[in-house]
Amino acid sequence: MSKRVLMVFLILLVLTFSGCSKEKTSEVISETIYALGTVIDIQIYDENVDKAKKAIQESIERITEIENKMSVNKDISEVILINENAGENPVQVSEDTFYVLKKAKEYSKLSNGAFDLTIEPIVKLWGIGTEDARVPEKEEITSLLNLVNYEDLKLDESTNKVQLNKKGQAIDLGGIAKGYAGDEIKRILLENDINTAFINLGGNVVTLGTKVDGSSWRIGIQNPLGDRGNYIAVLEVVDKTVVTSGNYERYFIEDGKRYHHIINPKTGYPAEEGIISSTIVTDKSIDADALSTSVYVLGLEKGMELIESLDNVDAVIITEDKNVYITEGLKETFNIVDDSFILAN
Ligand code: AMP
Ligand code: MG
Repeated sequence: MSKRVLMVFLILLVLTFSGCSKEKTSEVISETIYALGTVIDIQIYDENVDKAKKAIQESIERITEIENKMSVNKDISEVILINENAGENPVQVSEDTFYVLKKAKEYSKLSNGAFDLTIEPIVKLWGIGTEDARVPEKEEITSLLNLVNYEDLKLDESTNKVQLNKKGQAIDLGGIAKGYAGDEIKRILLENDINTAFINLGGNVVTLGTKVDGSSWRIGIQNPLGDRGNYIAVLEVVDKTVVTSGNYERYFIEDGKRYHHIINPKTGYPAEEGIISSTIVTDKSIDADALSTSVYVLGLEKGMELIESLDNVDAVIITEDKNVYITEGLKETFNIVDDSFILAN
């Protein structure tokens, strides 16, 4: 285990025992694994331990399957095959991968290219989160930027064949695949008759039902300027997913400047539109994941506009001046706990 993984693991442990207080009658059956580039924690509250363990086992197998199909950080995957065949051949993919690609392309369009699933060449150039992270030359960025265009991904619904138009183009599902995995874990738990659970995929939270005592789950909103586990606010939810994109997730600092992992596809540089954290609250984690990344890149005004155009989607946006903006739907259930942050609306 690398130091970073160990640290995230320890923080999750602390979170487990502090953040989500539980006065339970049911047992807690939990498992923590490392997959999809992050620490994944599944907590099930149920009287039937065997049933819960089976559900966890099936979830782990499913996460592994998703990772094996969609990761670009492995020797081989369906997405890697698509990338290797860019500008050459269509590649037939599984229903799974096709669904996530389709969703990712839809959100690329909906966000007007703020989210762009073809961002991979730029992500790779920066190498943020890897040992090769560096600030590229401007020319390197501009020469790769014309490869970034979600419209160049052809999706053939009748055959599940997929092709990128130009050689050198490549897909990165890092901004959406964890969301899909969250939805899939939820589906598996429900199929196993589990109705109370708290799932955390490296900051992407999925909740099932209420807590055992009938109260809401309390989700801490990470202080983007503070240490991990340092919350600025608490959000109460029932049966919702809460997904955050933040500049503190993956970054490096050079000459006092923070370079983080969310890239603005228009510039090829880490997004600097005034947001330091964007959280989406909705039903499906795949939607929340794509939207949290989209809003981060869009900035406050356009981001809020996008969220307000959608049904049943709420957001918490923190700007670099420590103002916090929330949508109408969260007014009753959102509380700031760090008064150096100001609720702006
Ligand atoms: P998230 O943490 O969900 O906001 O996703 C960030 C991850 O998505 C990065 O680590 C990249 O793999 C990928 N990514 C970065 N910028 C973008 C973007 N503008 N559109 C889509 N994916 C992106
Ligand atoms: Mg995302």
